Amino acid sequence: MAIIVLGSINTDITAYGQALPRPGETVLAERYETDLGGKGANQAAAASRLGAAVEFVGRVGADAFGDAAMERLSAFGVSTRHSLRDPAHGTGIAIINVDAKGHNAITVVSGANMRIDKAQLQAALPAFANAKVLMLQLEIPLDICLEAAREARKQGVKVVLDPAPAPAAGLPDELYGLIDVITPNESEAQALLGYEPGSVEEAARAAGELTARGARAAVVTLGARGAYVAGGGGEGYIAPFGVTPVSTVAAGDCFNAGLAVALSEARSLMEAARFASATGALSTTKEGAAASAPTREEVEALLSSQMR
Ligand code: ADP
Repeated sequence: MAIIVLGSINTDITAYGQALPRPGETVLAERYETDLGGKGANQAAAASRLGAAVEFVGRVGADAFGDAAMERLSAFGVSTRHSLRDPAHGTGIAIINVDAKGHNAITVVSGANMRIDKAQLQAALPAFANAKVLMLQLEIPLDICLEAAREARKQGVKVVLDPAPAPAAGLPDELYGLIDVITPNESEAQALLGYEPGSVEEAARAAGELTARGARAAVVTLGARGAYVAGGGGEGYIAPFGVTPVSTVAAGDCFNAGLAVALSEARSLMEAARFASATGALSTTKEGAAASAPTREEVEALLSSQMR
């Protein structure tokens, strides 16, 4: 497999109503949907849709939500050979309330995601032998991410870390030193560095500080304002692609997938960030999380239509 994703997988349950419930209140919603979620699963699905061979290492419960989530991920063409069912902990779920204005309130129960352990990682290590990139996020135990990053570095596999959610205590120094590319958005940069990069200049400063902490490169994403790349042999601003967004859910997951896929094809970091930017932009033109991930053809078409 070219890309390994070690991370979370959830079933998202989204209720669409007029208003969000206040404390103590019950509201009736018009409809609900269930979908694949979790940053790990979203990134794996998006990378697979871009044409990469993807191995997902994650954990669900022995329950119906776990069946549904694994089936959905497999339907994207992702291998789940090294994913497990936890006998004692349920599948991670996200309970999402959305009001008529599109505002949301979300409760996540991590469940089996937080039970990924060293034994599971150990069993998945053979997959690292042929991999080019390991994608990590922080919705599973941090010590497992750290151990996986150590193994990846040992085996010459590039590590792309999306530091989401950013831990209040920050990241261990050792982890910074094992990261090839760290990809915080504005609020994650704020959590890690103590200030929110509100401009391209501040994003440049943030990216520089993250590389000074030991990451080989950093890409700070700024939503509709683009991204800034530092380290890794190239530095500069990546302007956003012009699209008409309908939902920005999972834009960051799709951006990370685009970045990892391009890096797995030995493209330069600046080229990979441009490919990622097109992937992220296209994802905002469709509803849904993993479902909004674009195909390789769509990304190539956007890249060639907006050559600059
Ligand atoms: P997250 O979803 O993690 O908060 P961002 O919102 O920063 O991540 O989006 C990630 C990347 O996706 C951006 O750096 C940009 O390249 C692309 N992107 C996001 N929103 C838009 C948008 N409205 N128009 C164009 N590109 C976008």
